[in-house]
Order: sequence, then C-alpha cells, then structure tokens
Amino acid sequence: MKILLTNDDGIYAPGLQALRRELLSLGEVVVVAPATEQSAAAHSVTLLNPLIIQEVLDEHKRFLGWAVEGRPADCVKLALVELLKDPPDLIVSGLNAGSNAGINVLYSGTVAAAIEGAFFRKTAIAISQASGRPKPIDFQAAAKIARRVIDRILESNPTSGSLFNVNLPKQELGTPKGLKVLPQNVAIYHESFVKNTDPRGRTYYWLGNDYCCPAPHPHSDEDALAEGFVTLTPLQFDLTDHVKLAEMNQRKWEL
Ligand code: MN
Repeated sequence: MKILLTNDDGIYAPGLQALRRELLSLGEVVVVAPATEQSAAAHSVTLLNPLIIQEVLDEHKRFLGWAVEGRPADCVKLALVELLKDPPDLIVSGLNAGSNAGINVLYSGTVAAAIEGAFFRKTAIAISQASGRPKPIDFQAAAKIARRVIDRILESNPTSGSLFNVNLPKQELGTPKGLKVLPQNVAIYHESFVKNTDPRGRTYYWLGNDYCCPAPHPHSDEDALAEGFVTLTPLQFDLTDHVKLAEMNQRKWEL
C-alpha cells in the first residue's frame, strides 16, 4: 500500500514522525508536509509565493519526503499533481498535537490536508491527539492507537474519496474507553483574546488557547472525546445545504 503522510504541524513535528514509524509496517510511506507549523491554516493555498521544496531524510538517512514552504493543502495538491511517482492508496494527515473536533474541524490544517486528498478521490484520514497542556503528549503511544484506528477504517473497505476525522482523547484520561463513530458537535466554543501592549506601545489582541466547553451535545465528537473515547467522524466537503436547496426549489426564482 502506498501512503502519503502529511500534517499541519510541520515535517519535523514529533506527531508526524511517530505516526510514520507506525505506518511503515502498513506500506510505503512518503511524507510531503509543510516546512513550518501551519496550524489553523484551514484550506488556504499559496498563490502569491513559490512553493519551495526540500528533500528530507529520516534518522537513518533514508528518504523521508519533501518539506514544502506552503500550507497543508498545498502539500497534498503538489504531492498528487507533481511530486509522487505513483498515486497513493491512502492519505493520512497527522498526528496533530491538539484535537480537531467540533467546529475546529473548519479551522484545521490537519483536516484540510485530508480534504484536499478526498478532492482527488483518495481515502483520506485526519488524526489528532487531544492535548492536556502543559503535560507533553506521548506521541509514540498515540501513534500506536492511531494505527489501530487506521486499520479498523481500512477493514471497513471505504470507497475511494472517503474522508475521516479521528480524535484521540487526552492521555491523562487513561487508556481510551473505546472507539465511537459520531457526528461533530457544532456548538460554538467559549473563547477569549488576550489584550496587551506591544514594545512600541500599540494595542494588540492575541487569541487565547483556553477555548472550551461547547454546549453539550450528547453523541457528538467533543462529548465522547471528553469522556475518554476515540472518535471517528466521516466528513464531506459538499457545503451545499441539500434540504434547504430542495425547499428553495419548491418556489420559482426569477431575476
Ligand atoms: Mn496543528
């Protein structure tokens, strides 16, 4: 099996390195990932700058892949259109440091990379580890669980273009209680900005990292994640509201 591995934390991120080690026993892994962290880049692509690439070797001096001075979606697009000799059978994005559940799915560069893969009708999986800051993530342990989830997804024979979002619960909650297939919790998070003054006397705001607590939505990703379950959510990128579309087409629209 040919696997394209990418992420939004950057090619040297420990989550990607740990996941690569787990995926090497599943197939041939080529990494095409951003040269620097691109968290919350969502599905942005680079138009006004060149995508400079650099070959990267692993710790055994073997070919690992390419670092791209671009966004996660750039990486997948460039990999599939130009860099890879053979098209991959599977695209994996992660293992992200921090969860990508609820509406954060829409800000996530990790998920966007997987979505880009699904545009090309590839099976694509985004995987993130909820973080219990300030305690560091044990990426090796997380990658072992991620590999089990990937195996379960592949065993289900997903049709090409299938897109999945996986989140692993905070490690301080202990061994995950199980794997649940759930929708997103789309309630808004409580968020705040830090207001301060820069060295030149200008006022600035900086989005805090203390977002939390969307209104509970039983049987949703956020809630199950908080309870200590691994969550698996099938996604689609067609943003059309088909129910509304059908309803709107009940009347005649004229210009
Ligand atoms: Mn990230």
